[in-house]
Amino acid sequence: MTNSKYRKDFPILSQLVHDKPLVFLDSANSSQKPLSVIETVSNYYLNDHANIHRGIYELSIRATKKFEDARLNIQKFINASSAHEIIFTSGTTAGINLIAQSFGKAFIKENDEIIISAMEHHSNIVPWQLLCEQTGAKLKIIPIFDNGELDLDSYKKLFNARTKIVSVVQASNVLGTINPIREMIKIAHENNVPVLVDGAQAIPHMPVDVSDLDCDFYVFSSHKAYGPTGIGVVYGKEKWLNRMPPYQGGGDMIETVSFEKSTYNKIPYKFEAGTPNIADVIGFSAAIDYMQQIGMKTIFQHEQTLLQYATQKLLEFPDVKIIGTANNKVGVIAFVLDHIHPHDIGTVLDYNGIAIRAGHHCAMPLMERFNIPACARASFGIYNDEKDVDALIEGIYAVKRWFN
Ligand code: PMP
Repeated sequence: MTNSKYRKDFPILSQLVHDKPLVFLDSANSSQKPLSVIETVSNYYLNDHANIHRGIYELSIRATKKFEDARLNIQKFINASSAHEIIFTSGTTAGINLIAQSFGKAFIKENDEIIISAMEHHSNIVPWQLLCEQTGAKLKIIPIFDNGELDLDSYKKLFNARTKIVSVVQASNVLGTINPIREMIKIAHENNVPVLVDGAQAIPHMPVDVSDLDCDFYVFSSHKAYGPTGIGVVYGKEKWLNRMPPYQGGGDMIETVSFEKSTYNKIPYKFEAGTPNIADVIGFSAAIDYMQQIGMKTIFQHEQTLLQYATQKLLEFPDVKIIGTANNKVGVIAFVLDHIHPHDIGTVLDYNGIAIRAGHHCAMPLMERFNIPACARASFGIYNDEKDVDALIEGIYAVKRWFN
């Protein structure tokens, strides 16, 4: 692989930053958007916008159809068995909060246990901690090995009669580790425990089939998968969603309202109070079309090639340490450089037009596990190519010249 033929689909990437061609290596944080997505959102506002599910006029009917077609597209994309199992939220964070609060209200009480892993993003830790504060339930943590793989023997031992849910990330935003979630779900189900999968870093990079995984909930964000910001999806098995109470109250989520008592709409509308982010749902559907035209297997392969190339190049530096060396990784490489703070790495790379992320990556417990305050992270999307990796390597030489 040399140049990515997909780069031209992303208008933002043709600019100069600090007089250098932009090298964007921060897709795990948020991906850039292809022209097809930008045009879909803009065409919607130019031609089709009206509020949905309410109107009896042409524009509203058209907007409603596009919105509901997007739901069907997403259902097919992740192979959910029904469109009713697809709930729109503002993102992964909102999705996990929805499940924690709603599932929590229905099923979790004092001394119950919730299993998460040591590599979770804050958004798969704090919503559960809030629930624990409200209910007196407890968090149990699956430990990780030094290479960034989960310790599955310890995982199996965490289950007991009080375990009510497992919530685990499919691919880590820091380590890149792809967890064996199919196997982990099977283990949880043998213990009669449902599983929520945080798919924020998996959906943009690999085929995902929720029916094959047999997960009970799956959440993800559009903005990491070439779609607009402010939109995300909760997939939930109908059998759970029907038994869970609404998360927020308001328009659209009701069947009848009186001052004495209100009754609630059926799923998924029960969980979609208020006017949703219509334009960006439709934009996300265009992003899914974009990914599917390329093919999720091709996207995965493209990024694996880059991951291998970048890993090999980074290992040539004696003073670079890669954090996360699991066998099975997405295109994410976190690293530290002896005696140079990750923020300084990020700043010097930025002078060279290279965008990476530096910091704790919303995973402070993981930083503690690896005994580092922060790290630098390069991450790949379909628009990256080997030239971007070469620029990163040149950039690291520049960082070293600057500080040594
Ligand atoms: N989980 C993981 C693994 C993530 O990488 C992120 C975003 N960095 C989130 C959850 C939260 O996603 P969002 O900010 O889109 O809600």
